[in-house]
Amino acid sequence: MSKQLQFKLVLLGESAVGKSSLVLRFVKDQFDDYRETAFLTQTVNLDDGTSVKFEIWDTAGQERYKSLAPMYYRNANCAVVVYDITQTASLEKARNWIRELQRQADPSIVIALCGNKLDLAARRQVTQEEAQKYAEEEGLMWAETSAKTGEGVSDIFTRIAKKLPTTAQPASRGGASRAGATAGRAGVDLNKQQRPSTSADQCNC
Ligand code: GDP
Ligand code: MG
Repeated sequence: MSKQLQFKLVLLGESAVGKSSLVLRFVKDQFDDYRETAFLTQTVNLDDGTSVKFEIWDTAGQERYKSLAPMYYRNANCAVVVYDITQTASLEKARNWIRELQRQADPSIVIALCGNKLDLAARRQVTQEEAQKYAEEEGLMWAETSAKTGEGVSDIFTRIAKKLPTTAQPASRGGASRAGATAGRAGVDLNKQQRPSTSADQCNC
């Protein structure tokens, strides 16, 4: 049987950089001016037959008012840290998030730095060189995307899926978040363990 793995993915970054829009583009292939996505799943099928299911935790916008609770990214297998290529300050914010993840999240978390709003390249403030150099220094994946046109969006999620370990540990019970607590960062093998859908799994943080 081909492998089915499940991972917890969190979105981080300054307000209005396009986190929810990226999720909406990836999961529903839509772009809408304003939409909170909260909690969605999407599956990426890799060439080797592995199917990687992302449990996607988007913020409910609380990054506008205060810092996010560490429980939001605790046990995350991967994080997409988003900045807006037209706003230098948003890259600075992204660096802060990355530092926090490096200090507090699971040490083996896969982090992707994502420069969004590529369709607004005419108003670019953050050069590709600057962001790419920083990502290389920190050992992060890096990409530029446009949630509006869709450019680069499925690519970055596919690259993340490929980078995650394909040797999943069976979870004790529950979803990737709880599996993370018991089995490091390895995902849940869905062939071995069905994930119960309970309201407790909803991201309401
Ligand atoms: P969040 O606060 O990081 O979740 O950002 P949102 O997804 O709510 O997006 C904030 C604003 O930026 C909204 O008006 C979106 O329509 C817009 N936006 C998001 N992604 C893009 C993009 O790739 N290009 C453009 N031009 N606008 C975008
Ligand atoms: Mg949002």
